[in-house]
Amino acid sequence: MNEERRRYCPQCGGGLVTRTLGGVQRLACPFDGCGFVFWDNPVPVVAAIAETPDGRVTLARNAGWPPGKFGLVTGFLEPAETPEEGILREVAEELCVAGEIREFVGIHAYYRNNQLLLTYHVALLGAPHAGEELAEVRCLDPADIRPWPHGTGPALFEWLQSRGHAPEWGPSQR
Ligand SMILES: [Zn+2]
Repeated sequence: MNEERRRYCPQCGGGLVTRTLGGVQRLACPFDGCGFVFWDNPVPVVAAIAETPDGRVTLARNAGWPPGKFGLVTGFLEPAETPEEGILREVAEELCVAGEIREFVGIHAYYRNNQLLLTYHVALLGAPHAGEELAEVRCLDPADIRPWPHGTGPALFEWLQSRGHAPEWGPSQR
């Protein structure tokens, strides 16, 4: 999907070529009448530190991820959806339980995926279980969590610190 976006002009279907614009190399449409430029701007992604009613944090393994690899619940926004609406929808879809936003945790760049993460602390109103997009959910005591050093991990690390925990970094996951 992403590779297709990099190959063809979405306006006229022409093959994109590399052009230098404002001193920066960009993929652009070669046809003068079109003028499309693939700016490759970062995409916002919403993430949830989803807390169960008994105070544990829900980590999710996406379908297709290898066993043992977990992350926060994340998702893309639908058109005209606010980030708050988007993350509550993702929580409901992926964890099969409604949630309420407690606080905005922060913004973190995820350069490798060209994404900008907006992370919320969400209180779950019941016990979570894996929806269609997930292979598995795991609910951990905050003291037992070792956040991974990229992706959604730094937001979780900072949130744990803000709650009085002294987290240690764990192995790379997501
Ligand atoms: Zn074009």
